[in-house]
Amino acid sequence: MTAPVTRFAPSPSGNLHVGGARTALFCYAYAKGRGGKFLLRIEDTDQKRSSDAASLGFLKDLEWLGLRWDEGPEFEAPDGSRVGGGPHGPYFQSERLAIYDREIARLIAAGKAYEAFDTAEELDAARAAARAAGRPYRYDGSKALALSPADRARLAAEGRPGVVRFRSGERAVTIHDEILGDATLPAGEVDDFVIRKADGYPTYHFAVVVDDETMGVTHVLRAQEHFNNTAKHLLLQEALGYRRLTYGHLPLIFNPDGSKMSKRDKDRALREAVVAAGLEASPAGDDGRPLVDHETFLRWKGDKTVQLAADAATAVADAMGVALPEINVEDFRRSGYLPEVLVNFLALNGWSPGNDLEKFDLAFLCSRFDLDRVVKTPAKFDRAKLLAFNLDAIQAMDAGTFLRRLRAHGERYHPEFLRTLGEPRLAILAAASQPRSKTLDEVFRGNRALVVADDVLVHERSKAVEKALLKGEPTGLDLLAKAKESLAAIPSAEWSPARLEQAMNEFAGGHAGGNIGKVAQPLRVAVTGGTVSPPIFDVLAILGRDSTLRRIDRCLAAFAGATA
Ligand code: GLU
Repeated sequence: MTAPVTRFAPSPSGNLHVGGARTALFCYAYAKGRGGKFLLRIEDTDQKRSSDAASLGFLKDLEWLGLRWDEGPEFEAPDGSRVGGGPHGPYFQSERLAIYDREIARLIAAGKAYEAFDTAEELDAARAAARAAGRPYRYDGSKALALSPADRARLAAEGRPGVVRFRSGERAVTIHDEILGDATLPAGEVDDFVIRKADGYPTYHFAVVVDDETMGVTHVLRAQEHFNNTAKHLLLQEALGYRRLTYGHLPLIFNPDGSKMSKRDKDRALREAVVAAGLEASPAGDDGRPLVDHETFLRWKGDKTVQLAADAATAVADAMGVALPEINVEDFRRSGYLPEVLVNFLALNGWSPGNDLEKFDLAFLCSRFDLDRVVKTPAKFDRAKLLAFNLDAIQAMDAGTFLRRLRAHGERYHPEFLRTLGEPRLAILAAASQPRSKTLDEVFRGNRALVVADDVLVHERSKAVEKALLKGEPTGLDLLAKAKESLAAIPSAEWSPARLEQAMNEFAGGHAGGNIGKVAQPLRVAVTGGTVSPPIFDVLAILGRDSTLRRIDRCLAAFAGATA
């Protein structure tokens, strides 16, 4: 048996959706586990313009997941290595029109395809007639087939847009599927479908069949929504004298409530957050201007059928501090998930190795993946479980690796945070955060207070803050004022977590009955504005002596005279 060749063939419509990523993953695992090849092909026949930019997102996302293609568009990976290329290019369908034309000419010459010049009105009328008669619409090729070569030449010269249709032959077709089993489509189900559109581009069905043949693909693993299309592909393969391929159609991935995972989920979550916060206008960006213009914002807020542009939605969510449900691979990356965790988790959406084994890496998946353990029914995407997997992976990392990966994430998504914090302090933050972090992004999102200027830090006015500062005898505020003196006595050069802890333990011994919590919590509020942060002495060390003392002063002033 020859080694399998699989392919992932996305249409460049933005970023890579988790469902697409799972398809790519299974294609990769199937081929690589059997010494075969994994191809990437961009199906851009629906766009007239070059889709380089849109497909770049796919390349970057696949590479991040570790799914490097043996053949396909060329790409320079972040580590400088080159991915892609190969003997079967070009790998963009829009650049393969000559190949499709050649094959279409072959079909026409053999009487297996024909040009048709029906107008949109004629086709609409035929559809309406079928509907009125209560029968399913099938294209009737008798008129087009009756045209003489002279008729065709005349219509083309008149500028009538012509398409090419495949003579399907009204036969029953049986699809063999390694996952779903066999299914037979009765004769007449497949009509004379279009294979070349009026704009000269092939249809999906035609391009996919020609490319799978000419690129040497042996196994087609793709989403279940394409199952019925396979009938058309089989007929075309036969007419063109191509090889038969092995098919496996993969279950969809759904939200736990059974709805489709789509970018609308993000929009819905954002609208709910905006309504709950009573926001009447778009939040402002760094330049002080609204992130979304007022009219667009109000129209979107009041109309569930309107969607905000993806970038705008992300910016508004960030400004509000709300997390939107991740849908695309890039969303998960931005949220601070680790690629190896996402790969592991995606594999479990539709497949399992058995024996209750849940944690594994890509190499293991490649060695074990087979189609007979792929499920037929939709998989449910369990975010809580993904988060738990990510937490476990972060906990299992050595400190150096965590710091390196945290830094890489910060460089990509929070460069200003990194610039402000600087390297030695990032290392303290990493060490302090790792034991509690579920994602890489949490470390940045949860610690913005550490990088804002001292004079703009806002102290929350919550019940928890009041409890920390204003309740008890002495109050937290009283203790804070005194603790500040002990802290001020520590010179900058000695300002380390250990030295600070020692000083505050001594202080708590003398002023808070030895209860360090009574001192730590007011300090935390003073320097971060809230009651949640990494261990307090790490936080003080990161801020440094001057910033700590300034923040304490501001807190004392802000709450002077306040009562609980
Ligand atoms: N371009 C198709 C899609 O994105 C690919 C289908 C196939 O794999 O044949 O759904």
